[in-house]
Amino acid sequence: MRDILPPESGRWRHFTDVFADVVERAGYGQLITPLLEDLGVFTRIGDATDVVTKEMYDFVDKGDRHIALRPEMTASVCRAFAEHRPTPPWKIWYSGSNFRYEKPQRGRYRQFDQVGVEVLGADDPYLDVEVIALAWEFYARLGLQQVSLIVNSLGEPADRARYVEALRDHFTSAGDTLSEQSRETLGRNPLRVLDSKREVDQTHIAAAPQIAEFYSDGAAAHFNAVLAGLRALDIPFTVEPKLVRGLDYYRRTIFEFQGGTLDSAQNALGGGGRYDGLVAALGGPETPGVGFALGLERTLLACDDELVFGAAPVGLDAFVVDVTGGLQAAAITAELRAAGFGTDRGYDNRSMKAQMKLANRSGARFALIVGDDELAAGTVVVKPMYGEGDQVAVARSEISAHLASLSDQNRREP
Ligand code: AMP
Repeated sequence: MRDILPPESGRWRHFTDVFADVVERAGYGQLITPLLEDLGVFTRIGDATDVVTKEMYDFVDKGDRHIALRPEMTASVCRAFAEHRPTPPWKIWYSGSNFRYEKPQRGRYRQFDQVGVEVLGADDPYLDVEVIALAWEFYARLGLQQVSLIVNSLGEPADRARYVEALRDHFTSAGDTLSEQSRETLGRNPLRVLDSKREVDQTHIAAAPQIAEFYSDGAAAHFNAVLAGLRALDIPFTVEPKLVRGLDYYRRTIFEFQGGTLDSAQNALGGGGRYDGLVAALGGPETPGVGFALGLERTLLACDDELVFGAAPVGLDAFVVDVTGGLQAAAITAELRAAGFGTDRGYDNRSMKAQMKLANRSGARFALIVGDDELAAGTVVVKPMYGEGDQVAVARSEISAHLASLSDQNRREP
């Protein structure tokens, strides 16, 4: 788990701001759920997945309740829906940290952040298209170029069940020629064998039955409508029949966004899909759902690789250098901040040289200097830090008006 320091933390906030802007324009409201849930919220929805069986941070609390730190947020959203019963379709977005006890490496951490949306209570294939389009727009707003979309459908639950049996037969017949890890996975979840990156498994995976052979008419029609919708919106995609995704609650449409610059083992920027049984599994009415979660850290790594979406500038207007004791700086910063100017100052009555160094480092547009002469004359020296003309002495009472007159460009509303 890591600390995120400024200015990198500013980038994190901006990431979420951009996401919120994209999805709120599309009618999604923010849902905030607790970091902790009853363990059952996660085990009830995915007891055959690594995320739930091996990677969860769980503990017994002082009230003897078995608690888990959330490893993902879709289950919490469905739990909230079952609890509050809002009017469908319920379109919500979220952001926050998740916890998985995985082996940490670049792009994989034990605490990581996601943003995402979920829509509960509508079956419409064009809703699948809508959520994919929102993620697509978000990446574009960040400036990411190398993102590819892969999609698949797992069919209706009955289709999926028949497919899983066919896969079980297929991989079982491979016997010992399948890797030991995949044989272990096969016992729990045959679909996940398709995810194996091990060399020895590849010929068996290539020869495995394809999910499309198992689609019912309804599942095929739903998937075709999704693909037609993506084409209509000019969103490029590839159908990947081997895409299964990590959590086993998905049905019908599933999709993943991959970053072109990232290592193939960690190249999923985000993903999601349709899950029609989750709310019911959590005690609510049978409710269709669709959504996605996008990883923050991995997306920022992709942004770094593409040299886009850098750390936002601090955006200070003024830095007050007061070598008369600090009371002037206290008063001027308070006045300017209240007037809407981003303002910082030096402390501890340090030397002019030391405070000017801080002013430089702060990135502020102007240094406002108060020495003994200025204090006596009731003035402040305004020194442009980026070559915007000469420094001038301004009456102390005019300082705010003077800054405003220089330009409204960097000024924030009070
Ligand atoms: P998942 O919930 O596993 O489908 O993950 C959705 C997205 O969250 C992934 O595509 C990653 O971008 C991100 N993600 C998942 N697990 C981790 C992790 N351990 N560390 C960093 N990002 C992660």
